[in-house]
Amino acid sequence: MDSKSSPVEMFFFPYVGGGHQIPMVDIARIFAAHGAKSTIITSPKHALSFQKSINRNQQSGLPITIKTLHLPDDIEIPDTDMSATPRTDTSMLQEPLKSLLVDSRPDCIVHDMFHHWSADVINSMNIPRIVFNGNCCFSRCILENVRKYKPHEKVSSDYEPFVVPGLPDKIELTALSFRFEEKSFGIVVNSFYDLEPAYVEYFKQDLGNDKAWFVGPVSLCNRNIEDKAERGQKTSIDEGKILSFLDSKETNSVLYISFGSLARLSPEQLLEIAYGLEASNHSFIWVVGKIFQSPGTRKENGIEENWLPSGFEERMGESKRGLIIRGWAPQLLILEHTAVGGFMTHCGWNSTLESVSAGVPMVTWPITAEQFSNEKLISDVLKIGVKVGSVNWVSWSTEPSAAVGRDKVEVAVKRLMGTGEEAAEMRRRAGELGEKAKNAVEEGGSSFIDAEALLQELKSVSRI
Ligand code: UDP
Repeated sequence: MDSKSSPVEMFFFPYVGGGHQIPMVDIARIFAAHGAKSTIITSPKHALSFQKSINRNQQSGLPITIKTLHLPDDIEIPDTDMSATPRTDTSMLQEPLKSLLVDSRPDCIVHDMFHHWSADVINSMNIPRIVFNGNCCFSRCILENVRKYKPHEKVSSDYEPFVVPGLPDKIELTALSFRFEEKSFGIVVNSFYDLEPAYVEYFKQDLGNDKAWFVGPVSLCNRNIEDKAERGQKTSIDEGKILSFLDSKETNSVLYISFGSLARLSPEQLLEIAYGLEASNHSFIWVVGKIFQSPGTRKENGIEENWLPSGFEERMGESKRGLIIRGWAPQLLILEHTAVGGFMTHCGWNSTLESVSAGVPMVTWPITAEQFSNEKLISDVLKIGVKVGSVNWVSWSTEPSAAVGRDKVEVAVKRLMGTGEEAAEMRRRAGELGEKAKNAVEEGGSSFIDAEALLQELKSVSRI
């Protein structure tokens, strides 16, 4: 860095698609808004899903660009997919990344943990490396203490609960799956101090992670309707239709249901959800994403469609009780609408935090990865969620079953969306957290200050 006034130059290397790419692109935009010269490194195909919003940022004067890594013969890396074991391998980007880093020397690179090979490449170039793993602080504390104390080795089966030692709260878990990062300069976390203060303190003080910057909720950098509507992918339904459905509903009366970008539910499970929703008598928007097709049920040229009870969609449409979206939904637009009063979620960290930011309580339905610990945070620590009763951790390669029956769906929806004391309390707490989330990213808020602190630290390092 030549002078005090020259901007910090940051590279961001998001994972390919899904729930890791989306927040990392937002993080790049946030640092650009803080004055860093930000470059997002990606493949040509993956750039397409966020090119437009970056163009808008450029037009409004933000110092942000996209740099694409090309492979020989224009080979492309597929989107991450739950059927890949465990994740899409991106190591073929190693050589293009190396060449890029030989030509340019940013002050740091923020990379996704799933580009696990990139740590060596970046370290060998002596560029400060910051890891993004997409989780909250709570899950990270659990990860560190499970690694340290190995409580899972003291139980007799994967189903027997164990208490994670050393945490600010008594947290019981069963099966876990985590990965680690080492020799990095630090980490950026998509969370905010007031959401999990005891865990941020514990993580920094007790676990000794002082180089951790909490800059979220990053989704709140999407301030205009286009950015919200186009985030991640193009939506599969006209957003006007969604908004007019929501506009016709009372405040807090609609349940939003989505299981994120990766999860594949079985047709039998979808059927149980449909029956449970119908019996609950509450209005809903249900995003049906990927459907698991066992080879025996696959149709010649498409998806099996008979996963809904007979006449369900017609009944829901005629009574205007429910809207089904097949494919990609504009999640931020939906969650932020005042008619939405609950979110049935798989507890992916982005969805969780987006719900918190919108002040919306949840029905928690974890499926895999760290979603079970996120459920504990939502329901047991923050007390803004009702557990649907999903207890089986499903690995990437397992064939999903109908693990949660219709009765459980109905009960959980009624508890969350009903008029009882419990629901009102959860809604009140969620509303308070939503306000704190918004304050965190405003000037002077904790996440705003953390982003500035990281830039200052990078400046001082690059001048040594
Ligand atoms: N998302 C969306 N529309 C959809 C499905 C997902 O906008 O139809 C977004 C959602 O807002 C979130 C991300 O995709 O930002 C999903 O991330 P999460 O961590 O919740 O789950 P994952 O997809 O990684 O399992």
